[in-house]
Amino acid sequence: MAEPARYDIAIVGASIAGCAAAIFFARNGARVALIERDPDLLAYKKLCTHTIQSSATPTLRRLGLTQALDEAGAIRHDAEFHTKWGVIQSATSADYGYNIRRSTLDPLMRRRAITTSGVGYFRGCSVRGLVETNGRVGGVTLVRHQGAEETVLARLVVGADGRNSTVAQLAGMPARAAPNGRIGYFAQYRNLPLPAGARSQMWFLEPDVACVFPSDDDVTVVTAMPSRDRIAEWKSDPEGALRRLFAGLPNAPRLDEGERVTPIMGVLEYPNLSRKAFKPGVALIGDAALCIDPVWAIGCGWALQSAEWLADAVGAAFEDEVEIDQRLALYGRRRRALSGHRCLINDFSSGRPFNLAERLMIAAAARDPACADHFVAFGSRSIGAAQFLRPSALARALWVNARHTLAPPRPAASAAGRTLN
Ligand SMILES: Cc1cc2nc3c(=O)[nH]c(=O)nc-3n(C[C@H](O)[C@H](O)[C@H](O)COP(=O)(O)OP(=O)(O)OC[C@H]3O[C@@H](n4cnc5c(N)ncnc54)[C@H](O)[C@@H]3O)c2cc1C
Repeated sequence: MAEPARYDIAIVGASIAGCAAAIFFARNGARVALIERDPDLLAYKKLCTHTIQSSATPTLRRLGLTQALDEAGAIRHDAEFHTKWGVIQSATSADYGYNIRRSTLDPLMRRRAITTSGVGYFRGCSVRGLVETNGRVGGVTLVRHQGAEETVLARLVVGADGRNSTVAQLAGMPARAAPNGRIGYFAQYRNLPLPAGARSQMWFLEPDVACVFPSDDDVTVVTAMPSRDRIAEWKSDPEGALRRLFAGLPNAPRLDEGERVTPIMGVLEYPNLSRKAFKPGVALIGDAALCIDPVWAIGCGWALQSAEWLADAVGAAFEDEVEIDQRLALYGRRRRALSGHRCLINDFSSGRPFNLAERLMIAAAARDPACADHFVAFGSRSIGAAQFLRPSALARALWVNARHTLAPPRPAASAAGRTLN
């Protein structure tokens, strides 16, 4: 076996979390080994509907990627939400997210990461083991595509290797699972006429959910997340089920007016997984740390943000193992901002309809611009669960709903404002 290579940081996985972390760490002056099992530089994540929430837009700006996203044709994401109380739409649009296909985004980010000074790219290398030094993790062993085994020593190993993280398994960081009561089906359509233009759309059908995400290159991602008890219907005829669903939605595109350019992909088992995100010598980011119901399209944003939080927490301390381990606790504290989201998302993913608090807030958001902004800030994960349900927001929602109930009936709604039954 060759002499071990020595780096400050070894990052396992060169998808969006790993590439973002590599850029941030290298900018701090660290020598970074970025290790990816897929030898294809154009590889991308297939199971994704390509929306990055606006909570991650500041991270994308810091990475210096927003201009490249615009040039690649990314659509600036803001959304309208169809509910049985009416349509929720942000009045102010404080910030926007991005809709960009992973076939565009992943190679773009990988190119940026591996051309960043200080990053060494281990292409087509699968991590199979961890090296232990001084009672803590101190590197990885990997197998090259051609079969040769190598060791990379590093003061910090970062698991950015996705939902089934090998790093987490090897480091003894088990996942806690919560069931998901919905299944998912999605496909890409080209030249699909969109009643809401470039705006993303989401329909809450309680318990089913449907979405449309206009994306780069005139491609629109069409998604359905039906309740698991409809699995037989969807499995036997996904195309028919998708068409029937969208034909019955207000202000929705008619799928036969566009050209479907991918197979309809089905996701039948996707329990929510979460792991403790660090231990001495190891940190997990992205899906490796938290992989949660795709209904809310938050995994990409959190993959980028968690990479930023980790690199910021470690800062320039990457030469001292003791200090690195102390600083991992800062990363853990930063991640606590996601706990409220995780609890609410886990609970909603049981496939239940909205609970009382959600009905209060969502009905008010459909009726009042300030409540709509508040709901959109929460849905885009720019504010946490505690802020979403803070007393003043609950009070305003109560007042809005009471005023609506007492008001005389309004004239018939427009097509766009038509409510779900
Ligand atoms: C149906 C569906 C739709 C989704 N839609 C959205 C959406 O619209 N918006 C959103 O924000 N999120 C969405 N997500 C979630 C999103 O795709 C993930 O959260 C995101 O891709 C996580 O990125 P990551 O970099 O952490 O992991 P991944 O993208 O999974 O990357 C892991 C990388 O690690 C590499 N790797 C794995 N093991 C090893 C190893 N042993 N050695 C070396 N390399 C290794 C892999 O090859 C891969 O490149 C969706 C998920 C699903 C299932």
